Amino acid sequence: MSVTHAPQTADVLTRQDPELAEILLGELHRQSSTLQLIAAENFCSPAVLAALGSALANKYAEGYPGARHHGGCEIVDVAERLAVDRAKSLFGAEHANVQSHSGSSAVLAAYAALLRPGDTVLALGLPYGGHLTHGSPANFSGRWFDFVPYGVDAETGLIDHEQVRTLARTHRPKAIVCGSIAYPRHIDYAFFREVADEVGAYLIADAAHPIGLVAGGVAPSPVPYADVVCATTHKVLRGPRGGMILCGGELAERVDRAVFPFTQGGAQMHTIAAKAVAFGEAATPAFAAYAHQVVANARILAAALADEGIVVTTGGTDTHLVTADPAPLGVDGRAARGRLAAAGMVLDCCALPHADTRGLRLGTAAVTTQGMAEKEMERIAALLAGVVRGEVESVRAREEVRDLVGGFPPYPA
Ligand SMILES: *Cc1c(COP(=O)(O)O)cnc(C)c1O
Repeated sequence: MSVTHAPQTADVLTRQDPELAEILLGELHRQSSTLQLIAAENFCSPAVLAALGSALANKYAEGYPGARHHGGCEIVDVAERLAVDRAKSLFGAEHANVQSHSGSSAVLAAYAALLRPGDTVLALGLPYGGHLTHGSPANFSGRWFDFVPYGVDAETGLIDHEQVRTLARTHRPKAIVCGSIAYPRHIDYAFFREVADEVGAYLIADAAHPIGLVAGGVAPSPVPYADVVCATTHKVLRGPRGGMILCGGELAERVDRAVFPFTQGGAQMHTIAAKAVAFGEAATPAFAAYAHQVVANARILAAALADEGIVVTTGGTDTHLVTADPAPLGVDGRAARGRLAAAGMVLDCCALPHADTRGLRLGTAAVTTQGMAEKEMERIAALLAGVVRGEVESVRAREEVRDLVGGFPPYPA
């Protein structure tokens, strides 16, 4: 008997629900025939997809291994213990909670574990790359906590460490958050630890983006410095859509209770199994090589975009992320994104520090999984600039994109 029905899903669906099957196949076609440059996306492996499509999706499992509110959990308990052990060993953490449904749920639980409504929290402001959960008025975080934003230096685009220190001394926050959706450089966790210690604050690292680079050994780990590390499992880490929390043993119980029962119900055991698969993959030399290539590709992409006249924030990158201002080519990020989408190049807009217009945010996690390397990054940058300038019309650009991605199928047959 097959471990999973996932590989046959398309066949089953085609027979039973052709309408929906067509949608799934259409999305697979879209992902493989256009260029995926969204920095938060990746192609998880067939093994991860298989775990997601397994019978574990049927199991209710409120609570934690050995202490569930439902019967019949003896096998899924083994899966969750395996995921936790693999996460702990991959990141050198004393404790891991792998139940968070998403990165945002992980942040919610971290705040629930450490804070009370009304507490003051210092975090990177949203115009500089802070996430919604870092104090947006549209998010629970901005409603329930008193966020004080720090920013980046107007000249360099780098986190303004002096401002962080000054704001921490002035506001005496209960927690300091470091982490971003768009910051392309390494974060100096030792610095944030020092400031947090000086003012008696918790340090929460929201490493949703770089955690996969940490696993691959190409980015510094927040684990030795932060009280709590929040992360996603679906970005560079290349696992299923979901979240994760790492912390020291002394906070383990508070974090676990903050996830369940405080902010979540039943654990999604199929996703947890898929996280275990991804952690296993991320511990291999092949994944370390992948992470190295992700960063090498991003550096080439940043340099090639700069050669085209696009202003690259902070002048380059240490990670998978590149943020850039296409204004010198005559359009802002929003218009550029539209032109690029019409050409089959899929990426995001982002806020630009100290500017009213928007910029572009790109990442190399997905294209690197497909096997693309330096040569392809140069080709992407040239095509991107041509499209943004309006020199290459979208029909021709689409053809070139199809030609490019045709050599790198994300799921080879
Ligand atoms: C992606 C991200 C999140 C949220 O993850 P979701 O799974 O979309 O909820 C939170 N914080 C940061 C810094 C992120 O990059």
